[in-house]
Amino acid sequence: MMIARPGGGSLVATLMWWGNSEGVKGRCDAKCHGAAGPDCDCMCGGAFHGTRHQQGGVEQTVEVHMSEIYEAAKQRAKAEGLQIHLGEPQLRLL
Ligand SMILES: [Zn+2]
Repeated sequence: MMIARPGGGSLVATLMWWGNSEGVKGRCDAKCHGAAGPDCDCMCGGAFHGTRHQQGGVEQTVEVHMSEIYEAAKQRAKAEGLQIHLGEPQLRLL
């Protein structure tokens, strides 16, 4: 699966976010990917947690595991009454 990389850089910003009709509740972004500590309350289930520090980085995890991570995240979100969306949150909430 390809993720758009504006500007041609390899830095992945927000991979996915979750929320409900009230708005964005959280996102899987640099805070998760660059995390140094073990705590993760992200919908990726820790799949991307700290991946920036691993060989292959965030990008490799996306390319190899994104579809399964996304499916698992959808189930997690559903259990909490939320919806998962890929990419950056829409700016309609601002
Ligand atoms: Zn995450």
